[in-house]
Amino acid sequence: MPLLQPIISIPIFTLLLLLFGYIGVPLWLWFTYLATILILFHVSFWIWGIFGAAAVILNVPLIRRKVITTPIMRMIRAFNVLPTISETEKAAIEAGTVWIEGEFFSGAPNLKRMADEPYPQVTPDIQAFLDGPVEQVCRMATDWEIYRRKDLPPDVWDYLKQERFFGMMIPKEYGGLGFSNLAYSTVMVKLASRSFIHTATVGVTNSLGPAKLLLNYGTQAQKDYYLPRLARGDEIPCFALTEPQAGSDAASITSYGVVFRGEDGNLYLRLNFRKRYITLGAIATLIGLAFKLRDPENLLDRGEEVGITCVLVPATTPGVVLERRHDPMGVPFYNSPIEGHDVIVPIEQIIGGVEQAGQGWKMLMQTLAAGRGISFPATCTGIAKLVTRVTSAHATVRRQFGLSIGRFEGIEEPLTRIAGLTYLMEAARIYTCGAVDQGERPSVISAIAKYHFTELSRKIINDGMDILGGSGICRGSRNLLATIYIATPIPITVEGSNILTRTMMIFGQGVIRCHPYVYQEIAALNRGDAIAFDRALWQHIGLMIRNSFRMILLSLSRGYFARSPVTGATAKYYRKLAWASATFACLTDLALITLGGTLKRREMLSGRFADVLSWMYLGTATLRRFDAEGRNPDDLPLVHWAMQYAFTQIQQASEGIFANLPIPVLGALFRGSVIGGWRLNPIGTLPTDAIGHQIAQNLQIPEGMRDRLTIGIYLPDHPDEALGRLEQAFRLSVQAENILKTIKTASRIGQLPHAKPESLIDAAFAAGVITEEAARLVREAERVRDDSIQVDAFTLEEYQHCKQPTNKRMLAMSQDI
Ligand SMILES: Cc1cc2nc3c(=O)[nH]c(=O)nc-3n(C[C@H](O)[C@H](O)[C@H](O)COP(=O)(O)OP(=O)(O)OC[C@H]3O[C@@H](n4cnc5c(N)ncnc54)[C@H](O)[C@@H]3O)c2cc1C
Repeated sequence: MPLLQPIISIPIFTLLLLLFGYIGVPLWLWFTYLATILILFHVSFWIWGIFGAAAVILNVPLIRRKVITTPIMRMIRAFNVLPTISETEKAAIEAGTVWIEGEFFSGAPNLKRMADEPYPQVTPDIQAFLDGPVEQVCRMATDWEIYRRKDLPPDVWDYLKQERFFGMMIPKEYGGLGFSNLAYSTVMVKLASRSFIHTATVGVTNSLGPAKLLLNYGTQAQKDYYLPRLARGDEIPCFALTEPQAGSDAASITSYGVVFRGEDGNLYLRLNFRKRYITLGAIATLIGLAFKLRDPENLLDRGEEVGITCVLVPATTPGVVLERRHDPMGVPFYNSPIEGHDVIVPIEQIIGGVEQAGQGWKMLMQTLAAGRGISFPATCTGIAKLVTRVTSAHATVRRQFGLSIGRFEGIEEPLTRIAGLTYLMEAARIYTCGAVDQGERPSVISAIAKYHFTELSRKIINDGMDILGGSGICRGSRNLLATIYIATPIPITVEGSNILTRTMMIFGQGVIRCHPYVYQEIAALNRGDAIAFDRALWQHIGLMIRNSFRMILLSLSRGYFARSPVTGATAKYYRKLAWASATFACLTDLALITLGGTLKRREMLSGRFADVLSWMYLGTATLRRFDAEGRNPDDLPLVHWAMQYAFTQIQQASEGIFANLPIPVLGALFRGSVIGGWRLNPIGTLPTDAIGHQIAQNLQIPEGMRDRLTIGIYLPDHPDEALGRLEQAFRLSVQAENILKTIKTASRIGQLPHAKPESLIDAAFAAGVITEEAARLVREAERVRDDSIQVDAFTLEEYQHCKQPTNKRMLAMSQDI
């Protein structure tokens, strides 16, 4: 071989290797590539022999199946390498659709597609509903009033029914409002910003309640009868699944119903059930009930154990017991145990009729596949926006050490976190609603949304309470956050308790459902279908090879090789998403290979995988929002903060995976080198203080970023209301700030005595330092500011009887001071 040949050919072949690996070429091209190398390097005959044998075995499917795939199938079965799936798990996994989460599992996400997914806007008719009935119902009762009464006032109940709040998701032809998911979610955001009780009351009727099940599965007769009654609020529904022995493991319910033939010759169900934690249970008139159906006489011709079934039981049916209620953290919404003893209903009460007998679990999983991503995410976004609004105003109005506390870096830090996460949550709320409104039922994304929105709102409310200090602790009409803080564990527990949602649903079920090949492999293996298994397996191996190249090249280039669908400041984040996805996909396959069927029991690992997947999704939604809203440069600090935060979560979770993935033999080497590399070349580091400072200070300016972040919440304008008062104090404080600075300067140069500027207003006016108008403005600002930082104080009588405090003495005292 001439000397020059290797010098030229080695770089060319290395480049080709990297290119082929990165784009993932088919097997025959790899063999062509190898053959070219062998020709150029004049290899010996026996190497050609090995090459030829490998080429034939791997490229001819019939031989490949016999020689490699079938023995692999046998080995997988023998060593239980792939996860086994029970019938209930199968229903959960098969429920819903795979949306963009599939892109992340592919390792080469179609970023353009993700950036083009809909990010819908509220239509004018929905805006009219928000400005009309929603505004009105919020105006009718404060959160504190609802807590004092331990219920919504009767006129609010009536108004909710009259304006069809219970039928927002019921189509117009049945008398409902026929709202889209986005419209419903936007209403829930505004309601949540007023009171958690509103959303807890309206949520069940619109999400996983009888109405949704009827819409999806009901017979025409059931729809015609019940939906108009539910839309009008003539029926108050609840849905009863949970039992003392069946919480997270809901499929293990023991409530049962037996089919029997009545004396009139018709079929009936005799139901016995004991349920708990049922929202609206105590006041429900229509119970959606999940139970196990038995048919000992095989009257339905489906065998003796028909399976989980959903039925509608009028609450007045003899045997139904609805006489107690729970006290969920003192949060006054109806939540109750429900019992039924030999309750008899016609078999036609099964939702969807006899055909749907035994299909209850599937129905619930499919309905939840979309539902989980809507109601609680909306509630939590409403809460996040309210906390942003309250804390940004309070940080300005409240002064300590002669400064607004929002000027202290210690306060800037939680303020920034609140703002950055609120931006991200609103983005993911709308992005998810957009997908569901397009007909997707993305079960994994819904689980991500449910888990992360409830966890993030817990973080946000904790930060909010810290910023408010004592005024967050003392309950009463002046306190805007305490009741939210108390209610926080409720969304965390409901609709799939969070720990389980993170560790089992997002990745445990996601990896089977969304991975391009795993489900096909499991299904083919269960069917014993060698042809299908062979196809899926070899495509899977090709994917693993491509993703390994992508992971290495994207990591070395910090994502540079990936093509961003946008240019400008956010392009680098799209590229990093490609890098994160390639790493995630590689690690997923590594975990599947090393842990196989035991992966689903390794919940600490699958929880970390869930975090990586989730933060890729939340980051994508954030980028989508920024583009959809016209790439407003004023929002860039929020986007930078949210994206850097998201990639830091990915960094941490990935490090945890690297550190804990059991790699046989080479484990220590793998851990040492990969973790070292990952730390030296991190995909994410926490946002800088400079970005945080910029966000926190922008947040303390009226309008602009603060208004954009909190759009769509209920904002009372009357100063008698806590938020109205705080808003007024905030606006006036900002207006008075420069005047106070002028007084301070005059005091420093000796024009005025040394004292707090607030106490020098009259002197400053007398000395001509400020105008009369300015003096009036500062006095008013100080009066309102002082009022807004007061907390409620009760007489013993008021406290013991839950009365509204008069606060007269306290206010008088504060004015004296
Ligand atoms: C206020 C409120 C309202 C509700 N409304 C309704 C309603 O209207 N209708 C209805 O049917 N139900 C309702 N529920 C029930 C709710 O869905 C259940 O509370 C939930 O399913 C969890 O069950 P559990 O509380 O028994 O918790 P458990 O199942 O006892 O779980 C306890 C903890 O263990 C974790 N865990 C369980 N299994 C696993 C696992 N395999 N891996 C990891 N962690 C695990 C859970 O995540 C949780 O953190 C409501 C509950 C509350 C509190």
